[in-house]
Amino acid sequence: MEAVYEPSRQQKIKHVVTTTVVVILIVMSIAVFERYDSELPQLQNVRRASEANYLDTNGKTFPWQQLRLPRYITPMEYHIRIYPDFRAKTFNGSVTIQMLTEQQTKLITLHGKKMKITNVDVNIESKDGSIWRKGQVRAMYESQKLEMHILEMTEILLERTKVNVTLAFEGKLMKKLSGFYLSNYTKPEGEVKYLAATLFEPTSAREAFPCFDEPDMKAKFTISIARSKDQISLSNMPLLTSTTYNRDIILDTFQQTVKMSTYLVAFVVCDFQSVNRTTSQGTKVRVYAPPHQISQANFALDTAVKVLDFYNKLFGIKYPLPKQDLVALPDFAAGAMENWGLITFQLTAILLDPDVSSARDRQYVVIVIAHELAHQWFGNLVSLKWWNDVWLNEGFATFVEYLGANEIDPSFSKMDLFVQSEMINTMAIDCEGNSHPVTATVSDPSQINGLFDAISYGKGASLIRMLSNFMGEEKFWDGIKKYLNTYKFGNARTEDLWDILTEFTQTNVSSMMDTWTKQMGYPVITMKRKDEGVQVTQEHFLLGRQKAPLSPYNYKWNIPFRYAVAKTSGISDQLINIHMDSGTKFQADHDQVKWMKGNYGMYGYYRVNYEESNWRALIKQLTDNHTVFSSTDRAGLIDDVCFLARAHKVSQTMALNMTKYLRNEGDYLPWSVALDCLTFIGERLRNKAVYDKLQKYTVGLMHPIIAKLSWEDTGSLLDKFLRSLMIDKALEFGHQTTIKNGKTMFHSWMKDGKKLNVNLKGEIYRAGAQYGDISESNFIYKEYIKAPIPSEKHTLLVALCYTSHESILQRLLKETAKGDVIRHQDLRIIMAEISKNPKGQLLAWIFLKDNWNNILEWFSGSLFVLPDLIQSATSSFSSVKRLAEVKAFFNSVDASAGKRQVLTSLNQIQMNIDWLENNEDEVTSWFKDPGNILLDNS
Ligand SMILES: [Zn+2]
Repeated sequence: MEAVYEPSRQQKIKHVVTTTVVVILIVMSIAVFERYDSELPQLQNVRRASEANYLDTNGKTFPWQQLRLPRYITPMEYHIRIYPDFRAKTFNGSVTIQMLTEQQTKLITLHGKKMKITNVDVNIESKDGSIWRKGQVRAMYESQKLEMHILEMTEILLERTKVNVTLAFEGKLMKKLSGFYLSNYTKPEGEVKYLAATLFEPTSAREAFPCFDEPDMKAKFTISIARSKDQISLSNMPLLTSTTYNRDIILDTFQQTVKMSTYLVAFVVCDFQSVNRTTSQGTKVRVYAPPHQISQANFALDTAVKVLDFYNKLFGIKYPLPKQDLVALPDFAAGAMENWGLITFQLTAILLDPDVSSARDRQYVVIVIAHELAHQWFGNLVSLKWWNDVWLNEGFATFVEYLGANEIDPSFSKMDLFVQSEMINTMAIDCEGNSHPVTATVSDPSQINGLFDAISYGKGASLIRMLSNFMGEEKFWDGIKKYLNTYKFGNARTEDLWDILTEFTQTNVSSMMDTWTKQMGYPVITMKRKDEGVQVTQEHFLLGRQKAPLSPYNYKWNIPFRYAVAKTSGISDQLINIHMDSGTKFQADHDQVKWMKGNYGMYGYYRVNYEESNWRALIKQLTDNHTVFSSTDRAGLIDDVCFLARAHKVSQTMALNMTKYLRNEGDYLPWSVALDCLTFIGERLRNKAVYDKLQKYTVGLMHPIIAKLSWEDTGSLLDKFLRSLMIDKALEFGHQTTIKNGKTMFHSWMKDGKKLNVNLKGEIYRAGAQYGDISESNFIYKEYIKAPIPSEKHTLLVALCYTSHESILQRLLKETAKGDVIRHQDLRIIMAEISKNPKGQLLAWIFLKDNWNNILEWFSGSLFVLPDLIQSATSSFSSVKRLAEVKAFFNSVDASAGKRQVLTSLNQIQMNIDWLENNEDEVTSWFKDPGNILLDNS
């Protein structure tokens, strides 16, 4: 899955919990489709176990008591038929599963959720394989809590017996975001069109058909889907046959899949059109979109073909399916989902109009496609054995997506975007006491969902990059190829990967990497002069008052440590290992050394601290000639000094002193990190007298580069990102020239319809919203409603959140609650952006409180959205009063799905309070120094 971008509309299925043993009479529903399964025997007894302790209501124990399925019976093949009924908003179907008993048993236990099983038929193969006979089902049990059904047979099924179980089932085809669900879009002429699609990862295949819904219970799938004549259906494999089923209804049957996990099965029924091309290795690639948006699909097609060709070479294993479809879906909870052969996307993650979409929009599409295609190997071909290793899927796909993206745009080779998005941003949250290890023990679906977070994606990818740099790329990729070949069509655990990589290096990879994956957080390494050399030591880098739980490694890491030493004669760099139990020491001729820099090249997932004299020497080097360091190293120095200042390991003065060199900085990454640092300080001091000085200082730093960059659309991808970042922050910190230019361009667009630079549109809209009258904001809102391009809609909405008019913010929130003009799925964006607006921070919090129960309902199937909402609404508070209010509120409501984030938020608010207490005076006195005032700052 690609990390969530905009979660969509969600309707909760009301699930009736029965507390008595009930007899369900089978009532054949009269649907559009004739029932094909009327010959199956009807079930007489369906027991429902109660929710608590997996008991049934007679106090009898549900025959299986664990969250994981038993392994005494395993699936080999599925034959699935699905009949969606768009009018009745239901679907029914049947699945025949060919299974093999691994041990003798009377019970057949499998998953099923939010569905009614209407018929069951069991056939058992004789010992010699010559005949099949009917088996008798004595009783059937259902546990809603375990999301399981059990068929209890009258006879014992012997070991190594083949059993065919056919189950008929019915479910609701609803507007939700998981399982098999209903979606719609509106054609330009106003007609509403319906479609149905699936999203199964991690545990929702069981909402679409009964199955063994665990990733290591792989099987082959033959899928048939019914559709009307004016629709098409798509699934993982190419279409095999289409037969008229019932008047206007066609039954499409697809080729049998390769052996695969249930969470990767997918199907879509829609009226979309496609564009297609074939890769040099003969794979047919098609991109599907609603007919009126198909012209926006060409960029994605071109990208997918190039990236697929590249991965075939990189991984040394050809993509194993005959086709790869990519489908743009109007309602989708994640950015995209890597279903094997049928990748599904949210619209903004795949559609583009080159005339309207920005470089940022293009980068997002490239990254998401490269991510999902990487999963075709990492996840689909070799799957995780269990969800505790989600990071193996997501960390690899996230690491490889940058290599894939580099095929489309070589500016990715600098890895600046990786270092920021995956490493620096994740380290900013992985330093708190309630973070979690990369590999975590998970059992129930809500815990599994919780693992799709920055730790699995960003930290996972950063650790892989660190290891690849340590081993050397060539050896690393030799190891990865062997790993893919060894486990293809099977499952692997983290240990299996380490074992194979150990064959390709001198180091025991497990003993090094376990210290990174099995304990949370990361170290700060201190380099200190001692006697004739340099002493290097490590400790856990922790921010805030919250203590970390005990770690099996006592928060020591085996660190591949790379450092550079600058002498009068030049710079030399070294890679050494710091073993977890001891520090290390190296020789250095102190008279010759100008400065030392740890984490040279920024491959390591750790911070580095130095003695004051070395910090001063590093700042001097940045001031004299910052290009001695790469842009990633400059960003690393800034990020380290800012976070070390927050942890009181260096002074705030030192951090501010480092920012002074930025007047000469011309690269995106260092600026981006530095502005995050200054924004953090600004947010804390927003209502203090010194804020004005900080504001003037920041625009003074930016002034030369803003003047140099101008508003022209020139340069590399990173130059374009830098220009839009600088203008955005100049608007935030009140740079008068930028405000004036932005407003002028806004008016030329609003009044004369002038076409704007696509890469600065967001900033120009923001200038109008933030510094214009209410009529400007109203104009943006109208444009938002009618914008035909998904990415354009997004840009307008984000800009509107910066409005200085409270009534507009109120309207945005009200419309989001209605979920019509602004979809519920956009609440994440709105909360995130509005809470950054000084006028909106409190509104966001009040909205969250007032709508808490509604929010739980809107996002009931995608509760992974909650942490972001809580974070946006609360984390920037910095008063004791708000801390108490936030604590009291979450004690009074059901916040179980956001529990970790509530703790994080409380910790962050406390940190904000502490920061102000500890730093306000120091920052204030720093700005009293005339040497720290920049004059040309208009
Ligand atoms: Zn993914």
